[in-house]
Amino acid sequence: MEYFHSVRLEQDKCKGCTNCIKHCPTEAIRVREGKAHIIQERCIDCGECIRICPNHAKIAVGDGLETLALYRYRIALPAPAFVSQFAGRAGLEQILGSLLTVGFDDVYEVARAAEVVARTTRRFLAGYRGKRPLISQACPAVVGLIQVRFPSLVEQLLPLTTPMDLAARLAREKGRADTGLPDEAIGTFFISPCPAKITAGRQQHGGVPGPDGVIPLAAIYGDILKGLAAAPAYACRAGVAGYGWGQSGGENASIGGQRLLEVDGIHHVIEVLTRIEAGDFQDIDYIEAQACPGGCVGGALMVRNPYLARLELRQLARCLPANAGELPEPGNNLATTPVQPRPVLQLDADLAAALEKMHRLETTQALLPGLDCGSCGSPSCRTLAEDIVRGEAQDTDCVFVLRERVRVLAEEVVELARKLPPSMAKPEGGSNSENQGNSN
Ligand code: SF4
Ligand code: SF4
Repeated sequence: MEYFHSVRLEQDKCKGCTNCIKHCPTEAIRVREGKAHIIQERCIDCGECIRICPNHAKIAVGDGLETLALYRYRIALPAPAFVSQFAGRAGLEQILGSLLTVGFDDVYEVARAAEVVARTTRRFLAGYRGKRPLISQACPAVVGLIQVRFPSLVEQLLPLTTPMDLAARLAREKGRADTGLPDEAIGTFFISPCPAKITAGRQQHGGVPGPDGVIPLAAIYGDILKGLAAAPAYACRAGVAGYGWGQSGGENASIGGQRLLEVDGIHHVIEVLTRIEAGDFQDIDYIEAQACPGGCVGGALMVRNPYLARLELRQLARCLPANAGELPEPGNNLATTPVQPRPVLQLDADLAAALEKMHRLETTQALLPGLDCGSCGSPSCRTLAEDIVRGEAQDTDCVFVLRERVRVLAEEVVELARKLPPSMAKPEGGSNSENQGNSN
């Protein structure tokens, strides 16, 4: 099955400036012939390139509101961070109700499902005796990062379904009970803060069916704003513990415990995962890791400044109880199938061939200047060496190697230009004796 990616390039907007190549955490972008190009197998849809591109050439593609027409009964699944985007303009219940003004028939807060996941995680951690720390699966960009860059850590991912997928399942069950309609007539739509969750919604992550569609928040922001003032109130059914998941630290606070660590921002996450891979943090029970700065409030598809959104989310939650009260007990457990590694950074599946390529890579890299300037279109000298070994680039793509090659060539040309055919060449020392003759 082809892997769906929500992050795309708008070719005509790309100016080939190479800004994006250095920020991609999986070295998935190259610039060739003046345009960026995403290596699909490496991309984890984290959205860093969307954030960084000064020309808005990277976009996230999700579902639009027109997809609602495919179903007779449509349920919105707003991410916990969703409400932070409209706080200050209306109260929490009106913000939730605004989803009914854009075509939805009902709302199921993902924050409510998050509280169920937190409760199950608490129980799981209490009985867990395996390798520590366990790592949250809630952020699909982090899961993708582990699959691609830290494949040895996949076994430490918490094997439980995510709040988004659980919300889809609970919403469908509620929709069926409320309407008597069959499953195929009920559509569940996650309102996403980031491209990674758009992709995750399409992938059936962990063998668990997710929502029927994922709508980027930025795509409906304007429609929601328009209907907000006249929106009906929708009774909130989650607590602070559920809405806290919208920002960094909220998941851990909702689980509760002594040795839980949170980290946000993809490059900080990489630092922590590198240390876990090296054997550190074994005295930590659980890691809440979120790719976006500040957590989902900082998602690449959010509209508001992440720090302001964080403040607004906290303020909105002040009117809520600590917990949702009575939570559903999902009929069967929340276990997922094990996450598989995606070792796309390996040079070759065959070990001997991989070692030989690694040797060639190191030899090639030693001939490059080590400036990591990005002018070649690869993010670093090492990745250019890797691209050369893979047959996808050549050493003269490096401007310094090319300049040296041209200099040597120019010297050879000058040397050749000085040479005369043997018939015209003077005998050695001939010019000196001629000069002596002329001076007399
Ligand atoms: S940042 Fe990347 S995608 Fe954006 S214009 Fe530059 S090269 Fe193109
Ligand atoms: S979405 Fe993330 S992984 Fe994919 S190309 Fe952009 S920066 Fe790289």
